[in-house]
Amino acid sequence: MRLINRTVINIIPDKEKQAYLRHLPAVDSLLKLDRIQRLTGQIPRPVVVEALQSVLNDCRRRIMSSTTQKDILAIKTDSASLEKEAVALALNNNTYSLRPVVNATGTVLHTNLGRAPLGPAAAARVAAIAGAYNNLELDLETGERGSRMAHLESLICSLTGAEGALLVNNNAAAVFLVLQTLATGKEVIVSRGELVEIGGSFRIPAVMRASGAKLVEVGTTNKTYEQDYEDAVTEDTTLFLKVHTSNYRIMGFTAEVSLKELVALGSRKGLPVVEDAGSGAMPDMAAMGLPPEPRIKDTLRDGVSLVTFSGDKLLGGPQAGIIAGKKELVEMCRKNQLMRVLRIDKMVIAAMEATLRLYREPERALREIPVLRMLGAGREEMAAAAGELFNSLQQVAGEKIKITPWEGVSAVGGGALPLTELPGRGVGVEVSGMSAAEVAYRLRTGMPPVVARVHKDRLIMDVRTMLSGDIEKITEAFRAF
Ligand SMILES: *Cc1c(COP(=O)(O)O)cnc(C)c1O
Repeated sequence: MRLINRTVINIIPDKEKQAYLRHLPAVDSLLKLDRIQRLTGQIPRPVVVEALQSVLNDCRRRIMSSTTQKDILAIKTDSASLEKEAVALALNNNTYSLRPVVNATGTVLHTNLGRAPLGPAAAARVAAIAGAYNNLELDLETGERGSRMAHLESLICSLTGAEGALLVNNNAAAVFLVLQTLATGKEVIVSRGELVEIGGSFRIPAVMRASGAKLVEVGTTNKTYEQDYEDAVTEDTTLFLKVHTSNYRIMGFTAEVSLKELVALGSRKGLPVVEDAGSGAMPDMAAMGLPPEPRIKDTLRDGVSLVTFSGDKLLGGPQAGIIAGKKELVEMCRKNQLMRVLRIDKMVIAAMEATLRLYREPERALREIPVLRMLGAGREEMAAAAGELFNSLQQVAGEKIKITPWEGVSAVGGGALPLTELPGRGVGVEVSGMSAAEVAYRLRTGMPPVVARVHKDRLIMDVRTMLSGDIEKITEAFRAF
């Protein structure tokens, strides 16, 4: 049994604690301090007052929960200390919550970091449209009410070969709207191997249930044959659903019915095929040195009735869900009352129009859409950027910071191309007397925040996901160390 050390336990009577509390300065007197006065000239006064109150409350709490004299004496209650703490807190509370960060993780489509960053043309277009009135729902020709979809539909159709197109809040909403429109109370046949869960708990079976469609699973996890689909067709069947296995692959002893085969079966049975393409590649991924992915164009050419895909995955635009395909089915979705619930905003339309216009010149899309540029970055380009980052950090490193070249893998992320490992390049950082997790914390909470990976107690920064100007920002962050 351990003996309790009596000299340490020294419960202070509450009365004595109250005396300490009474000695704390009042908010009003702290507000008269020089630095606080100056601060209220720079940021809203209520933010400063709230910070002072919070710092004082914290002192009170710590005093009341102290058990020894030593604990209490360790609490800094002098005006200078309180002032310093309150200034830091007020400045921190006054910064924007949503802020730009440097993505040094090497994961191109990082859902926690806002997925696809917009290119300069799209960002400028958002600013131009958001700060002015615009013809969102006005036909300038006739002066009559127009459709907000008109700004995008023909562009999508000409890029993909679709007869009609519609946009909603995101791809999850697109899948939901399609099922809710075409399959409420009816049966939808889907392969067991395609019942995906995407990050953030988007589960195909759950979405189908919410839409009112009845899920009919066919096949097994690894094998589904055409006969399985055929056998499952009943009078209540309304469509076949194919789901792109975006974030996983089933390998080994497998069988899958191709889209073409399913379309052929569908036309024999008089049933449409809908595909949730997930990330939905617009460009030719193979031309970028990546594993081939079916393009939306190919999916439509293979005869799918409707395809849905995300705006902010491989497309590289704003968050949105695109529904494209047969005119008649797109029209049915458009007339659904839920369109009003799921509709997209003018800023999204502005960003999407600017992004899609780049696809009219494929070379330009690869250069100017950040996601495509990052995914297509070759070894030489990566090595050059990594060398630049290394040299820049060496200049500010000093004795305590060790910078080493790093080579590894970067990921596509965002539930796209799950097995693709892109070559990663960058630097490793070690700071003496600090764990890699602490270094990561310091960088993440700096201004601007830099988000990096920790691997084997080394901080790794991958240049693949860096945008122009990021190397300077990272260098500044290290200068502040
Ligand atoms: C990502 C993904 C979704 C969800 O798309 P969001 O645009 O994030 O809503 C749905 N289905 C598949 C197959 C996906 O890959």
